[in-house]
Amino acid sequence: MPGHHDKLHVLVAGGGVAALEAMVALRKLAGELVDVELVSPDADFFYRPLAVAEPFGLGEALRFDLASLARGCGARHSLGTLVAVRADERRIWTSRNASYAYDVLIIAVGTRPREAVPGALTFRGQADVRLVTGLLSDLDRGLVRKVAFALPGGVTWPLPLYELALLTSDHLARQGNSAATLTIVTPEAAPLALLGTEASDAVADLLRERGIGLVTETYPERFGDGELQIVPDARIEADAVVSLPRLRGVQLAGVPQDEDCFIPVDSFGRVVELEDVYAAGDITTFPVKQGGLAAQQADVVAEAIAAEAGADLAPEPFEPVLRALVLSSSPLFLRTELGGGRGDVSSADTEALWWPASKIAARYLSPYLAERAGLAYGPAGERASLL
Ligand SMILES: Cc1cc2nc3c(=O)[nH]c(=O)nc-3n(C[C@H](O)[C@H](O)[C@H](O)COP(=O)(O)OP(=O)(O)OC[C@H]3O[C@@H](n4cnc5c(N)ncnc54)[C@H](O)[C@@H]3O)c2cc1C
Repeated sequence: MPGHHDKLHVLVAGGGVAALEAMVALRKLAGELVDVELVSPDADFFYRPLAVAEPFGLGEALRFDLASLARGCGARHSLGTLVAVRADERRIWTSRNASYAYDVLIIAVGTRPREAVPGALTFRGQADVRLVTGLLSDLDRGLVRKVAFALPGGVTWPLPLYELALLTSDHLARQGNSAATLTIVTPEAAPLALLGTEASDAVADLLRERGIGLVTETYPERFGDGELQIVPDARIEADAVVSLPRLRGVQLAGVPQDEDCFIPVDSFGRVVELEDVYAAGDITTFPVKQGGLAAQQADVVAEAIAAEAGADLAPEPFEPVLRALVLSSSPLFLRTELGGGRGDVSSADTEALWWPASKIAARYLSPYLAERAGLAYGPAGERASLL
């Protein structure tokens, strides 16, 4: 219900995948019924998935100006870091003690990456591209021969680690380097097991074809002195270890959160115990932290808010569908439904299993970004198809 504004004033804390998907979806679904304002600490939005391709010269993490993305959608962007919510006053506070009023709030502040395997090269995205470039150079010079790609236990999104291993293997093949060995060490029962049997089998085949070793049901602990310590109590010899960070939420006053600072929401993205406050994306307690899922959560939230603002639609609850595009010399599309109840509905294909065939499958944001980047959006626009 609009307060002192004519339109429902939707304040979005965040400037990442979930925040932007909600912004574009609200414009499409609710049009002039809503007024959207984004608040986030960075002036830019980074399209992170392509960061894995950067050290191999196969792509670059794209950057978009948030203010201009917002303007293009009839919204506004301000710089600020959410620290507290006063739901009783319908206000938020930022770290600089600025306060913003809202009719409806969407919290989409993402996660913080934490080092999970001390001593390993932790790949968080673009900031760590140079570390991987350095590793490739050491492999080329024969200074490094055995590389382990170690997935930590706890909350993370595993795909980038598999992509780094596959792209490193492509690099070694291009260099004619047959002396180096690559091994994936993972707590999973099978590679990318969360994508279901068919997808996981396809990834296992790909690893086998490339000669990449696989050690499953094993937790990497730390790396040093040429050894990766693992649980169960043992060691794997390695000259270098690449790992991913473990993800945690960020503490926000006035918001219910679990011990890792993730926010519990219902199937429409409403934050439990708070009125007119929604959350979407990696900051929620949903255990899989992935851009496509963040976008689906944002769509559910946008539908619920659009209906509240008076749009003629019936909001649908969150029914997660996981879509993953594995980057390597031959891209692999993986898809599964996480909701359960329909058995294992996993699939894998070298042809696109969804369209647009984007790396982050975001219904409203993908075409919007492609258009803003001036890219053709279709089978001919290969770069666009990654957006
Ligand atoms: C290397 C890498 C590769 C990936 N590859 C894929 C892939 O291929 N496909 C895929 O679907 N997903 C992929 N992901 C995961 C995907 O990037 C995330 O799941 C997705 O970005 C989560 O969206 P989000 O909006 O929840 O968080 P984010 O996109 O992280 O956005 C969070 C936003 O909130 C802002 N913020 C932070 N703190 C505050 C605060 N206190 N107040 C206000 N704003 C705040 C940040 O500045 C940022 O704008 C990849 C991730 C990485 C790191």
